[in-house]
Amino acid sequence: VLVRTAIVGAGIAGTLLAWRLRRSSRLVAVDQYAAAATSSPPADSGGLDATGASGGLVRGFEPDPDACALAGQSLAELYADDALRAGAKYREIGSVYLLASGTDPAAGTELLDRVLPGSVAVLTSDELIRRYPFRGVPAGTVAVTERRAGYLSPARLRDAALGWLAEAGGRIHPEQVVAVDPTAGRPALRLADRTTVRYDAVVLATGAWTPSLLERSGLDTGGLRAKQIQYTVYPARLPGLGAFVDDTTGLYGRPAGSRWFLLGLPCDRWDVDPSRVETDAELVERVAAQARSQLGVPGPDDRPFWTVASFDCYRDPPGLALREVLPGAAVYTFTGGSGGAAKTVLAASRLAAAALLAGRAVESRRARHLGP
Ligand SMILES: Cc1cc2nc3c(=O)[nH]c(=O)nc-3n(C[C@H](O)[C@H](O)[C@H](O)COP(=O)(O)OP(=O)(O)OC[C@H]3O[C@@H](n4cnc5c(N)ncnc54)[C@H](O)[C@@H]3O)c2cc1C
Repeated sequence: VLVRTAIVGAGIAGTLLAWRLRRSSRLVAVDQYAAAATSSPPADSGGLDATGASGGLVRGFEPDPDACALAGQSLAELYADDALRAGAKYREIGSVYLLASGTDPAAGTELLDRVLPGSVAVLTSDELIRRYPFRGVPAGTVAVTERRAGYLSPARLRDAALGWLAEAGGRIHPEQVVAVDPTAGRPALRLADRTTVRYDAVVLATGAWTPSLLERSGLDTGGLRAKQIQYTVYPARLPGLGAFVDDTTGLYGRPAGSRWFLLGLPCDRWDVDPSRVETDAELVERVAAQARSQLGVPGPDDRPFWTVASFDCYRDPPGLALREVLPGAAVYTFTGGSGGAAKTVLAASRLAAAALLAGRAVESRRARHLGP
């Protein structure tokens, strides 16, 4: 063994990175620390972490070309790999992305045409209203549609990848990491049982817990912040509409079974404590009102079926990527998904594993240089 690596956190980010690393080289010993950071999740949290709560919408198109490259590469890998699709319980239901007048989607659509030929199309606002159940959109709205897109279960994919990691010889420790110490040449993890373990490299893939873990370790948070994410499932049928995002209003959603629709708007609760997130009741009402005016559902008497209030680790610019915490200390973060890492994690984890093996960190802006 040449390199001993610790991955802290067993959300989708840490688990896929651990699996990629171990699969890339048998000379890398991979220890993953997979403690649940809280043992009593609130009833509406949808699970212990962002991976368990995620809506799982996946598509290739993003207005930002770098993010689009990562999402497109991830989707292409998903389509090329039967085991990934089955493990993630992927469902192809198509995707529509609404963009404000004057936004040119060409950079993204050209890129997607290369990785998933024939999937993407651009519609005018008239075409959009003819084909989908939107009740009028601002003049000049442009829509990017994708045939090969839909949703998956990040939690199921995590479970599958934990199995693949164990088969490949990765070790999974059900333990909570209290702090990381980057001094004394090699980084050390302090564990809840007061023991200390040294590694050649440590990656904190601890999602919304990352800012507090860094602070506890006396390290800079690097602009990482925890933010609430919330969606509600309403009784609604919207035939012909799969996954959608409306950049002009913020509304997003997807069908949840045949009689329900998951709908959400961005939440503005920043720096939340992941173990104390509570439902934003005003946001539940606002989502219903916005969807009613844009799509005609839910009806005025339809009660919300279920609200999931959870969180993710945000960063500006957003994006799941490997980032060095302290120059030369071999301590990295792999987080910052900012509410969107389900769709980029396959490519981002591949990039991060390659960067770790090469002994360097990369920012998401290098996504363009991903291999096929
Ligand atoms: C409600 C919601 C809806 C979403 N919808 C979408 C979507 O439709 N499409 C999309 O692309 N993305 C979506 N996302 C975003 C995506 O799901 C997240 O970006 C992704 O799951 C983040 O994964 P993660 O591994 O970084 O973090 P997490 O899943 O939060 O995992 C972090 C892990 O670290 C562990 N941990 C923390 N501290 C410690 C410690 N000290 N020691 C050991 N372990 C520790 C935690 O227990 C946890 O398991 C959504 C997110 C949420 C919350």
